[in-house]
This record gives sequence, structure tokens and C-alpha cells, in this order.
Amino acid sequence: MKNVEAFIRPDTIEEVLENMALPGSLAVAGGTTVALSKDPAVLRIVDLSGVPSLKRIETEADKIVLGAMVTMTDLLLTEAPIPLCLRQAARAVSSTPIRNMVTVGGEIARGVYWTDLPVPLLALDATVKICAKGSSRLISMRDLYQEHPSKNLAAGEVITKIYIPMTHHSSAFIKFAKTEVDYAMLNVAASVHLSAEGLIEHALVAIGAVTPLAQRLAAVEEALRGQRLSEDLLRSVGTLAVQGLKLRKDFRVSSEYQSEMVTVHVARVIEQAVNNAGEQK
Ligand SMILES: Cc1cc2nc3c(=O)[nH]c(=O)nc-3n(C[C@H](O)[C@H](O)[C@H](O)COP(=O)(O)OP(=O)(O)OC[C@H]3O[C@@H](n4cnc5c(N)ncnc54)[C@H](O)[C@@H]3O)c2cc1C
Repeated sequence: MKNVEAFIRPDTIEEVLENMALPGSLAVAGGTTVALSKDPAVLRIVDLSGVPSLKRIETEADKIVLGAMVTMTDLLLTEAPIPLCLRQAARAVSSTPIRNMVTVGGEIARGVYWTDLPVPLLALDATVKICAKGSSRLISMRDLYQEHPSKNLAAGEVITKIYIPMTHHSSAFIKFAKTEVDYAMLNVAASVHLSAEGLIEHALVAIGAVTPLAQRLAAVEEALRGQRLSEDLLRSVGTLAVQGLKLRKDFRVSSEYQSEMVTVHVARVIEQAVNNAGEQK
């Protein structure tokens, strides 16, 4: 970024948005990707780390509200009753020094195929607040991820908050990678709401890393509705998960192996989400 003329660290969101409205501005959050950027079009870096409200985790009646600058370490250490799958995904992001820097907003905006956090956020039906100078809008993670999030973020727009409904109390996340600090070969997350009789009233299931972008598995969610957990159910939804899935090419692994990973891990994450019911905050 040889053309950078200014590095600004505002302490209010209004000042952030004022600066982001100027041409050539780039937001920096944890900086783990921005630090590697060589984009000559960037003239001004706007550091989001000076705005206290962006770093908060708040509990409202029916939702958790994450500031965009909440880090993976914050998610691990918070006493707020955040869903288990979110903590599991935060823990799965690389190593402690990286988790200390990487932010929720950065993970959503970066959104490469192996990025871990978008997968549980999709499975939790999270909503993202995006602000620009003089405007703000809410968009579901599902809509934001219809295409790469950078295409849904206009120049000057900043992710400020993430709202997570507390209606899916039981959840699980699994990352499959070669080593603990490696990028994912597969990410899966599920959140379920069980009836008093133990039936799956509602399930949300998301997948990433085997697909170009993290996405929900609508057919699997539909097949789970009203069902009781059983080996037959898990086998059938595991098979269903891979049908119609556009697998991305991965030099590390064959498409047959990817299909097998999907079948096994989708079933496993649903089983874990159901079995976690009652054990989670
Ligand atoms: C060695 C290493 C290993 C890693 N391993 C993993 C891993 O295993 N799993 C994983 O999920 N991630 C991993 N990451 C992190 C991942 O690759 C990205 O670097 C990270 O998601 C970016 O988050 P950040 O907060 O550092 O964002 P930044 O680098 O500051 O920003 C990234 C992009 O998002 C934009 N942006 C940031 N915040 C906002 C916002 N609030 N609103 C709008 N735009 C915004 C920036 O302008 C920039 O374009 C790793 C990173 C490194 C360096």
C-alpha cells in the first residue's frame, strides 16, 4: 500500500464513517489480512479499534449483540451466554496470537472459503448491521453470503454489529483441518430447537470450506423438521447434504474425499447439536 497518505484512528463511529466516505479509504480491524495488502488504490487507512462500542458483547432480551471489533479471544473468554458453536469456531481459528487479533467483522468481510466464523453465524441466523455516512441497514448473514460479502459491501460501508437470536439454544461446530492451526478443509455448524418431547422443531445447518463460500443446507434443514434423532435420520441427512452441493476444487483433497467428509460431518454436527441440548448456557 505504497500510496497510503493517512492512518486515522477515530474514537467515534461517526468519525469512522466520515473518513470511510472519502475515496481511497480502507477499514482495518485486526489487520491480519490488511497487513498483507498491496492495493495501490488505498490512500487512507481507518482503524476501527478506537471505537469502544465496536468492542462490546451485549445481551438483550432475545439476542446477543456482538460489536464488529470483538476478537476470537473475546468470544472465548466472555461470560455472556453466547452459543457454543460460536465459541467452538472462535477456538478453531489458528493460534492464540492470531485469535487475539482477528475480529468478528473482519471474518465476515474477508469471507474466503475456509474462514471459520461465518459458518456458525449462518447456522445461528445472525443479522449484520452495516453503516455508512448518513445511513444504516440490516442484512441477514444468509443474504450477505449469497455472493462474496465484498460485493454486498459498498464503498464507505462498515459492519458495526452482529445480532444473534437466542432461539436456537443448542448448537455445535466442527472444523476439519490437517493440523490444529491449519486452514479448514471443512467447516460445519448446526443449531437446533427441540420440543419438550425431544423432536427437532427447527434446525439450521451451515457448511464452508468445501464450497466457494459458506452456505446454509436448506434441504437438510427441511428433512430434520419434526424428526426425532436416530441413526437412520443422521445417515439420510448426511447423504442429502452432499446432493446438489457445488464442491470447490481443493488441491489437498479429492472430490470423493470431500463428499465423504460432508456426509460424515454434517451427520456428526447435528448429532452433537442435539446432544448438547440442556448442557449449554
Ligand atoms: C497466519 C494466519 C492464520 C489464520 N488462520 C485462520 C483460520 O484458521 N481461520 C480463520 O477463520 N481465519 C484465520 N485467519 C484470519 C483470516 O485469514 C483473516 O485474516 C481475518 O478473518 C481478517 O480479520 P481481521 O479482523 O484481521 O480483519 P482485517 O485484516 O483488518 O480486514 C480484513 C478485510 O475486512 C475488511 N473489514 C474488517 N473489518 C471490517 C468491518 N467491520 N466492516 C467492513 N469491512 C471490514 C477490511 O477492510 C479488509 O478488507 C488467519 C490469519 C493469519 C494471518
